[in-house]
Amino acid sequence: MSNEKEKSAGKSLQEKLFSVKKNGLLKLSNEQIADVDAFCEGYMKYLDDAKTEREAVTAAVKLAQAKGFVPYDAKKKYSAGDKVYYVNRNKSVILCVFGTDSLENGVRIAAAHIDSPRLDLKQHPVYESQELCLLKTHYYGGIRKYQWVTIPLALHGVVFRADGSCVEVNIGEDESDPVFCITDLLPHLAQEQSKRTLADGIRGEELNVLIGSRPFNDDEVSEKVKLNVLAILNEKYGIIEDDFISAELEVVPAYKAKDVGIDRGLIGAYGQDDRVCAYTALEAILECEAPKTTAITILTDKEEIGSMGNTGLQSAYLKHFIYSIAEAEGVACPTVLAHSKCLSADVCAAMDPTFPEVLESKNAAYVNYGVGMCKYTGSRGKSGSSDASAEFVSEVRQLFDANEVIWQTSELGRIDLGGGGTVAAYVANLDIDVVDVGVPVLCMHAPFELTSKHDVYMAYKGFKVFFEVK
Ligand code: MN
Ligand code: MN
Repeated sequence: MSNEKEKSAGKSLQEKLFSVKKNGLLKLSNEQIADVDAFCEGYMKYLDDAKTEREAVTAAVKLAQAKGFVPYDAKKKYSAGDKVYYVNRNKSVILCVFGTDSLENGVRIAAAHIDSPRLDLKQHPVYESQELCLLKTHYYGGIRKYQWVTIPLALHGVVFRADGSCVEVNIGEDESDPVFCITDLLPHLAQEQSKRTLADGIRGEELNVLIGSRPFNDDEVSEKVKLNVLAILNEKYGIIEDDFISAELEVVPAYKAKDVGIDRGLIGAYGQDDRVCAYTALEAILECEAPKTTAITILTDKEEIGSMGNTGLQSAYLKHFIYSIAEAEGVACPTVLAHSKCLSADVCAAMDPTFPEVLESKNAAYVNYGVGMCKYTGSRGKSGSSDASAEFVSEVRQLFDANEVIWQTSELGRIDLGGGGTVAAYVANLDIDVVDVGVPVLCMHAPFELTSKHDVYMAYKGFKVFFEVK
């Protein structure tokens, strides 16, 4: 307008110099928001299909096969556009699309984890007490134990029988299935328990899963309820009590992913840390057709307990895979690693309006502000963090800005309040440039975690443009 007042010098300067943050949804058209919502339907289906690391591998392989991925063969020489996957011990998977460039120029990796906090059954879990049958558990990862009582629970996993044969168990997911539950005290009788600290409110040895209540009708036997439970399990799965010794059975929340909020802007589900980045990194590589740089999505196990074990990223399996493809091309593996780049795809903490004091507001991630980039994690002075370089942060910043990926920075909470880490440090140890990029989550590690559909979509877009760099 001609009569519009001219901007003051200060105002113009402010617009030029100040950092401006804006809700990502205010930057999108209605059509773009419809794309966001459509993408998240696939994600929610994946969450329902993949509640354990094994199921996450199976579901990922199924989606990959449908897009033409085939099992990796170390003896084969691959060329641009070839799509392969490599499953490591049924609990982690590497997906790779070969690029047009030589491996001398490195690979591009998105690394997410597919294990989530949960309750594992102990090796001798079954017992009867007060004529009820229960299962002893040992929690896995950082849980707040009080959150796991009085919610419907399902049992997932594998059992190896005495003869070495394996049976898969999945109880509590089908609408007609029974579910399980961990009991808690009634408030009327909880005066003593209520004096415990919150961390101690429910103790590890109190996380006992109620699995049965009806006795086997025979006056000759003791532990009739336990006998009845084992009889049902034997009939259904052909297993006996000793078979729990060679089993991996995980107790997880029994409900499915749901839209949260009257506007359906959020997703509520178990295991979004880190299946939200696993699914988005997976979809990004499934869309990948002959990229310039060879693209790799790795869905790894054991992050929640320190990336230990041969399915976690502290093991050599990623390096060995890169070694293998390098060898086939006649390139030295250290050369490939030194020129490689990685987005460590893991979630970050979102600002919670009820508990804003745990984050520092200028550096926290916010719901609907896009995928978070976290330069450093760690605790007590960044200890344990890989601390991404300014050079690599600059590169990812330019890439996201040039491709309309809505993103923000994130930090793992106020200084000295706690902290944590991701796989970034272990990838960095391989001589690879890496920075954490992932979706902000509310109530992380709870049995029901929340993410924004907008931010989920932006993570997918971020991983996609990272792979598609020309
Ligand atoms: Mn995580
Ligand atoms: Mn976690």
